[in-house]
Amino acid sequence: MRKPVMAGNWKMYKTPAETTAFFEKFRPLVAASGHCEIVIAPPFTNLAAAVAAVQGTAIHIGAQNIAWAKEGAFTGEISGPMIAAAGATHAIVGHSERRQYFGETDETVLKRTQAALEYGLTPIVCVGERLDDRESGKTEAVLVSQFQKGIAGLTAQQFAKIVIAYEPVWAIGTGKTATPEIAADAHRAIRAEVREKYGKEAADSIRILYGGSVKPDNARVLMAQPEIDGVLVGGAALDPVGFASIVNF
Ligand code: PEP
Repeated sequence: MRKPVMAGNWKMYKTPAETTAFFEKFRPLVAASGHCEIVIAPPFTNLAAAVAAVQGTAIHIGAQNIAWAKEGAFTGEISGPMIAAAGATHAIVGHSERRQYFGETDETVLKRTQAALEYGLTPIVCVGERLDDRESGKTEAVLVSQFQKGIAGLTAQQFAKIVIAYEPVWAIGTGKTATPEIAADAHRAIRAEVREKYGKEAADSIRILYGGSVKPDNARVLMAQPEIDGVLVGGAALDPVGFASIVNF
């Protein structure tokens, strides 16, 4: 049985005070949500407030990115030891917005994933095709290429510790959700690659989340797919009541 991961990516939203206010409402709503792991990734500047707000709960806090180096002359980057020292346990890597606006490549995704693992953080590694890829029938080829050029560079031991998020770029922030069947097909393609590279046990145990316009009203139908092991939620994770209802699908 793969335990679902219900993750929220706050992107560039909320101040520390708004973070504290979110968790005051959110905590009681998920106090009995032992069926899943909950992860919330606020902006770096809110990590301390978020970690303080989830003390004594099972809620995990993650970063939205992670440097590949431990320290050094990398203006604007935040490293694994810094994220871990703030009390976070997870890091999103390779989000499509990082790929689209900040030059993230499969190669840097691999380096950031390795850094997260080195510093004891669980990477949530994002992959996904663009609309033109899907329309030209290249979805599977793109997913395979992102896998092979990126996380296939991990050792089997490292791979066993990661979470993958399938996020079709055309579904992120657009209100267009992949149908459960489209998502499940993509998850099967990714899992097949995992099986080929790391074997059956790894393929059976890797958790693959779906992300792209997940909302309280479509979480249940997505989570009904055995291939979907959780969700990565952007916009709808900003509201404590809405995200709690997704968590408690
Ligand atoms: C995301 O940011 O990872 C995401 C899936 O966004 P949204 O849920 O807003 O589409």
